[in-house]
Amino acid sequence: MNNSFKSKVKRVKEKIENSKRIGLISHIQPDGDSIGSLLGFGLALKKEYKNIDFIASDKIGKQFSFLPGIDLLSEKDIEDYDLIITLDSSDMYRIGEYKEILEKKDTFIINIDHHISNTSYGDINIVNPDASSTGEIIYEILNTLNIDIDKDIATCLYVSISTDTGSFKYDSTTSRTHIVISDLLDKGVNINDITINLYQNRSLQKTKLFILAIETLELLSDNKFAIVKVTQEMLKDTDTTIKDIDGLVEFARDIETVEVACVLKELKDNEIKIGLRSKEYIDVSEIAVKFNGGGHKKASGCTIKDNIDKAKQMIIDEIQKHLG
Ligand code: 5GP
Ligand code: MN
Repeated sequence: MNNSFKSKVKRVKEKIENSKRIGLISHIQPDGDSIGSLLGFGLALKKEYKNIDFIASDKIGKQFSFLPGIDLLSEKDIEDYDLIITLDSSDMYRIGEYKEILEKKDTFIINIDHHISNTSYGDINIVNPDASSTGEIIYEILNTLNIDIDKDIATCLYVSISTDTGSFKYDSTTSRTHIVISDLLDKGVNINDITINLYQNRSLQKTKLFILAIETLELLSDNKFAIVKVTQEMLKDTDTTIKDIDGLVEFARDIETVEVACVLKELKDNEIKIGLRSKEYIDVSEIAVKFNGGGHKKASGCTIKDNIDKAKQMIIDEIQKHLG
């Protein structure tokens, strides 16, 4: 680890020691990396320090309910915290309604993240775009602080890394990632338990939603571009929620001719969440940034505040510009 990392970790330690009330906060629509890095870091800090709270900025998917420490994670009143640690959040909008409260109170923020689009909004920013996941950065921080990683912490960090690398398939997976994972496995992580809970647990309702959504699949640009949509009506008809759409955009991307896949998720009337994935050469973070979103080269997202048909046309136009 380089010196600038070590000196930042030292400042983080000092700040934690000198704060009365500390909150670790997830991002909205939290994924495995957001929750895994929060719980992993939080459980580790709890061993050494008091007054560490786990704050959810949104509802948490039930697939994460097996994670150690998850019962401590809930939406809380954050007016009285003197230190907030954000995890996996590339900008302040990612923590939803908490953004305004923190800005008004001028709360000290430690920003720990791996998104290249991170805006360095924290008072201390530990941002490493070369890390596979925020969980991998937390592992390095805990090692630097000499805090023991037990089986529970290892399980949370394993989930962070596994989910954010698409089970070690994405380019973000490095040899260092595997060294970290190897060490986590040595702590007694139960892979079968994680696999069943995260990857082999699809509900029948979600399966029905996928069947409906796949019927909306369109292939454009010589079949290089796949687009699918999920409307409020489809969610209602299958008794599912927005979280159940996870995995659909990857299914579209995995069609052999496809380079870019897009899912349109109708959160409500005139609010469309867009998920983007690419396979080889298109940088979908550039497309998401055009609509004030962000993410990575091969996985990104944004929100368009318009009706689903207009949002669809806007994103099609932008993607087709990039596909040439
Ligand atoms: P997903 O499609 O799984 O929700 O998101 C894929 C990636 O894009 C994730 O790395 C996530 O952090 C990023 N992402 C998704 N939506 C947004 C957004 O609205 N703003 C930013 N900055 N990043 C996003
Ligand atoms: Mn992440």
